[in-house]
Amino acid sequence: MGNPQTLDVLRRVFGYDSFRGDQQEVVDHVVDGGDALVLMPTGAGKSLCYQIPALVRDGVGVVISPLIALMQDQVDGLRAAGVRAGYLNSTQDPDERRMVEAEFLSGRLDLLYLAPERLRSEATMRLIERGPVSVFAIDEAHCVSQWGHDFRPDYLELSTLHERRPDVPRIALTATATPATREEISRRLKLDDARVFVSSFDRPNIQYRIIPKRDPRKQLLDFLRTEHAGDAGIVYCLSRRSVEETAEFLTRNGIDALPYHAGLDADTRARHQARFLREEGLVVVATIAFGMGIDKPDVRFVAHLDLPKSVEGYYQETGRAGRDGLPSTAWLAYGLADVVAQRRLIDTSEGDAAHRRRLSSHLDAMLALCETVDCRRARLLAYFGQDVGAKEQCGNCDTCLSPPESWDGTVAAQKLLST
Ligand code: ADP
Ligand code: MG
Repeated sequence: MGNPQTLDVLRRVFGYDSFRGDQQEVVDHVVDGGDALVLMPTGAGKSLCYQIPALVRDGVGVVISPLIALMQDQVDGLRAAGVRAGYLNSTQDPDERRMVEAEFLSGRLDLLYLAPERLRSEATMRLIERGPVSVFAIDEAHCVSQWGHDFRPDYLELSTLHERRPDVPRIALTATATPATREEISRRLKLDDARVFVSSFDRPNIQYRIIPKRDPRKQLLDFLRTEHAGDAGIVYCLSRRSVEETAEFLTRNGIDALPYHAGLDADTRARHQARFLREEGLVVVATIAFGMGIDKPDVRFVAHLDLPKSVEGYYQETGRAGRDGLPSTAWLAYGLADVVAQRRLIDTSEGDAAHRRRLSSHLDAMLALCETVDCRRARLLAYFGQDVGAKEQCGNCDTCLSPPESWDGTVAAQKLLST
C-alpha cells in the first residue's frame, strides 16, 4: 500500500498532502526499479512521477526534456524546494557545463535535465555511461513518434542511451495517448516490458464549444466581453500575421493582449511569457509555438481562431485551460475556408505520400469533432480510446447544452470537399 518514503518526500519536499490519480502507483513502481510508460493528461502531474523516484533512489535521475526554454525555470523551482538539480543544454558556456558534469559524476545531484540534442554528442553519452544514474525519465515521450506532431529526431538516440545503460530503469511520459502513438513510443524506446499507466483524459471543468466562423475577431471579442472579462487566457492563430493583427485588435478594444510567435525575438518572447505567467488577466495571442510545458493554473479560456491540425493538438492546447480545476472554456471558431486552407497546406507539404496521408487523417479526425452533433467530450475521449460514461453525454459542451436541431449544410459541403 505505497512506500512511506515516497509520501514523505511528496509532503516534505513538494509540500503536497497526497498523490493524485496514478502518481503513487507510478512512483512506487519506478522506485522499485520497474520501467513505466505513463500516459497522463497535461497538468495531471507527470513531473512528480519521475522527480520523486529520483530523490528516493540512489544516484542521479537523468531527465530528457525538449523544453529547453523551461529548463532553467524548472531547475530553479526545484532548487528553491531544496532539490539538487542541474541541466545541460546548448545555452551554457563550457565552464558552466563542466561544473554540472562534475556534480553529476560525483553524485552531488538529484536530478539532471538533459536537452535531447546533447544525446548526439559522444562526450555526453560517455558521461552518462560513467555516472551514477538512478533512473532515465523521458518527458514528452511522444516526441519520438514520427506519427505525431512534435517529432524530434534526437529522441531516436534514446534507444542508444538504453543500450549503453541497460541497467537503469526508464520512465517515459506523455500526454498524447492515441493507440498509434503509444505503440510507437513503446517500439522505438524498446519499452516492451514497461508497465503502462493510462489516466483518464477527461477534463470535466473545461467546457468545449465550437461555433461557426463568421467574423472571428468580433466573435472572439464578444465571447471575451460577455464571459471572460479580466480573465487570463490564450488565443491561438495559425499565422504570425494573424497573431499580430488579433493582438492589436484586442488591445484596441480594451483587452490586455500580448503577441507570441517564433518570428519575435527571443527577448520579447521571454518577456511576454513571463508577464503572462506572473501578471493577472493577461491574454496571449499566439501561434502553437506558445504553451508547451507552461504551467499557469488559472488560464480561464483557450480560444482558437483557426482550426487545429489534429485532435491531439486541440486537446493539448485546450488542456492549458483550467489546470486549477475551476470552470474554463475551450472556444473554437470553425469555418469551411479553414478546411480548404489546411487541405492545401497538406497537398503542398514536404514529405512523402504516406506523410501527407497521416496529416490528412489527423485533419479528418479534427473535422469529425467539429462536425459532430453528439457530445464533443464523448468524441474527444473516444479519440483517446476512452468513453465518457454510461450517459454518453457530458452536459458541459455546446452540443449537450444546446443540441443542434438542424444542420446547416456544412456537413454536406465537407463531404463534397473531402472526396
Ligand atoms: P504535467 O507534466 O502532467 O503537465 P506537471 O507535472 O507540470 O503536469 O504538474 C502540474 C501541476 O500540478 C504543478 O503545478 C504541480 O505542482 C501540481 N501537482 C502535481 N502533483 C500534485 C499533487 N499530488 N498535489 C497537488 N498538486 C500537484
Ligand atoms: Mg510535463
